[in-house]
Amino acid sequence: MKYYSLQHNSPKVSFAQAVIKGIAPDKGLYFPEQITPLSPLFFDAIETMNNNTIAYEAIKQFVGNEIPEKDLKSILTEVLSFDFPIVELNENLATLELFHGPTMAFKDLGARFMAQCLSYFIKDQKQEITVLVATSGDTGGAVAKGFLGVKGINVVILYPSGKVSAIQEKQLTTLGNNITALEVEGTFDDCQAMVKQAFLDTEIQSHRQLTSANSINVARWLPQLLYYFFAYKQLKHKNKKFVFSVPSGNFGNICAGIVAKKLGLPINHFIAATNSNDTVPQFLKTNNYIPKPSVATISNAMDVGDPSNFIRILNLYHQDVAKLKQEFSSYSFDDTLTKKAIHNLFSTYKYIADPHGAIGYLGLQHHHLSKEHYGVFLETAHPIKFKDIVEQTLNTTIAIPIQIQEVLHKTKKSIVINNYADLKHYLCS
Ligand SMILES: *Cc1c(COP(=O)(O)O)cnc(C)c1O
Repeated sequence: MKYYSLQHNSPKVSFAQAVIKGIAPDKGLYFPEQITPLSPLFFDAIETMNNNTIAYEAIKQFVGNEIPEKDLKSILTEVLSFDFPIVELNENLATLELFHGPTMAFKDLGARFMAQCLSYFIKDQKQEITVLVATSGDTGGAVAKGFLGVKGINVVILYPSGKVSAIQEKQLTTLGNNITALEVEGTFDDCQAMVKQAFLDTEIQSHRQLTSANSINVARWLPQLLYYFFAYKQLKHKNKKFVFSVPSGNFGNICAGIVAKKLGLPINHFIAATNSNDTVPQFLKTNNYIPKPSVATISNAMDVGDPSNFIRILNLYHQDVAKLKQEFSSYSFDDTLTKKAIHNLFSTYKYIADPHGAIGYLGLQHHHLSKEHYGVFLETAHPIKFKDIVEQTLNTTIAIPIQIQEVLHKTKKSIVINNYADLKHYLCS
């Protein structure tokens, strides 16, 4: 499979090159040259297949012959070693829980798949690769755990000191081995600005081969399409029109869902539910795409003012916004509504949602489904990751799951940096 740049100013590359480079030389996002629907026979039998088989069938065209069948299957077995359960709340409402991975965030799947692919592609190369990533909380932990112990790859994570939760900080700073946490005296925006600068710094590039691990990378973005197949497998017998509401920040997850639909998965409608960062909902109202600085919310993994994957969504609809609107809606909800939704889910269904999942639920509420529809909202993080907000809102305590207990007693190790010069010094020494 070949990938082209959405800026149309760089050569086409292989899947391997797209994974190693992350972004095209013209700064465009890579996009697969073709998306070929799967056979109707596959969907007829999907409920009889295990997740590994479904995953292999759905993902193989995007990898092509660059990873042989046997190796791709073993990568998928390794990556998919946890559950993706549907939890039904009433006869036409369910949540798809994506937080059963090692760091309890849905980014685990993409981070693990990318780590395995990257390690496969560089296994014969002498120079090590450095994955450089800035995090506001969730991404860093999933990337750190996904790449832990992977040969030939070092991971350097920048996070804003005092601005990630205690649990998130432990997940970032206690792994050791090939993972280094740089604790930045500044904000998340400072971290991100430093990472961007490092990618443009030729002196650093002469010391290290850098790549990024955010959803711009096709190996982190595309495997997320599997979530929708796993959901459909569990819900097919309902025989309804399925509507997915996806809490969205960079719009990578929902864009992967649209790719699943292109592969033939019968999804009736997508709802991109956002917090107060409403660039896309505004675009659908006004037809003007106006990026804004991000505003801080209680669903902070979605605090994005210029979602990087939206351009991929427009490309999937060949820039036809009228067509997009037939299959895709987007609504924004503020923190007050989010807390009310957490409350409502608990009092009505005894379900404890995190702020991101609660926004997904609000998306379905707002859309008004009829009896022939079945709504699924994606729960993208375990509520324990946002313990303080959820406990305050519900006036209750949440038990700490085993994955989290394991890191809490470990000792934090980080290197404090103050500015870009410190980062450069670290990367060049
Ligand atoms: C990253 C993240 C999101 C947003 O996903 P996108 O693919 O960036 O739209 C939603 N919820 C949680 C918990 C996240 O970590």
